[in-house]
Amino acid sequence: MYPKLVYNMDKLKANVDAAARITREDGGCSMMCVTKCVCADRKICEMLTAHPSVDFLADSRVDNIRKYADLIEASDKQSVLLRLPMMCEIEDLVKYVDISQNSELATIEAINEEAGRQGKVHKILLMVDLGDLREGIFFRDEEKILAAAEVIEAMSNVELYGLSTNLTCYGAIIPKNDNLSVLCDIAGKVEERLGRKLDVVSGGNSSSIYLIWKGDMPEKINNLRLGESILLGNDTAYGETVPGAVHDAMTLQAQIIELQEKPSLPIGEVGKDAFGNVPEYEDRGIIKRAILAVGKQDVDIDGLAPLDEQIDILGGSSDHMLLDVTGCDREYKVGDVVEFTLEYGALLKAATSEYVKKEYV
Ligand SMILES: *Cc1c(COP(=O)(O)O)cnc(C)c1O
Repeated sequence: MYPKLVYNMDKLKANVDAAARITREDGGCSMMCVTKCVCADRKICEMLTAHPSVDFLADSRVDNIRKYADLIEASDKQSVLLRLPMMCEIEDLVKYVDISQNSELATIEAINEEAGRQGKVHKILLMVDLGDLREGIFFRDEEKILAAAEVIEAMSNVELYGLSTNLTCYGAIIPKNDNLSVLCDIAGKVEERLGRKLDVVSGGNSSSIYLIWKGDMPEKINNLRLGESILLGNDTAYGETVPGAVHDAMTLQAQIIELQEKPSLPIGEVGKDAFGNVPEYEDRGIIKRAILAVGKQDVDIDGLAPLDEQIDILGGSSDHMLLDVTGCDREYKVGDVVEFTLEYGALLKAATSEYVKKEYV
């Protein structure tokens, strides 16, 4: 059945291997594999928990981690909650998750209490904001970070596991040696204050991995959290390909439901399209127009690239996608399947949609 998202498990595993060669072998960093972009897909999580180079599985949602808590339990990996926990999910957090990223002492106190009730010790990564201005204690409030570390250290049912930072999300700030060195300096001061080493200094997401192959990663960074670089092979700082990784470990397939020759310009007065925009059209004369049974409810159409490069995407609506196949060598017909690679947003949406079937090859 179509539309479907095809996961090529061999390619995906090869991407994990490629990321591990850089992150672990060259960079001396442990690797958190991020599962949120595929909604913690069971088969992918099974592959990751069985993979010897994966140290942690990480997700932004407790619901997703709960789905693979049994796999974590049966493996030597730990689970990590990436998004700051909500006060309303502390019980499940402590029950299903080993480590969480935090920036609020009130939340950490609630975790400590709940962990006490459940007879557990929960690990905390204290987040530092290096200027991207999403989550974390602001790096210039150094004393606030050191004091928070001391408060956490004094709690009996949470353990300060390390520091972490997140970049290239809200502010689109690129990780560099200089801003990550600030995190390393702060980590050094925390260690001095506590009189012990931290286990983890986590230097960011898929936008940080390039620093390793450029030879520019500060020594003290010993962990990266990688989603897009593993799933789609992308360095998200400068858009390079992660060496040894591929972009087509996941593809979207959709079926043609109409293929007719019509003008490229709509006929009549132009109003607003289904999404309230006034569209603009290019006059290409009479063209071969293919309609695919997939739409904006299933994917982010702008985030798709056809494997057949002679196809031109014209646009789409909720349930349809329109292609210009005039310039294609292949003679498309109704019932044919068109395949696309996906960008991050398109993958996220397709993986989340229950209308998009999942297939593993
Ligand atoms: C999503 C996320 C990641 C992974 O991001 P990628 O760009 O997919 O590697 C890492 N850390 C945090 C806090 C995240 O929210």
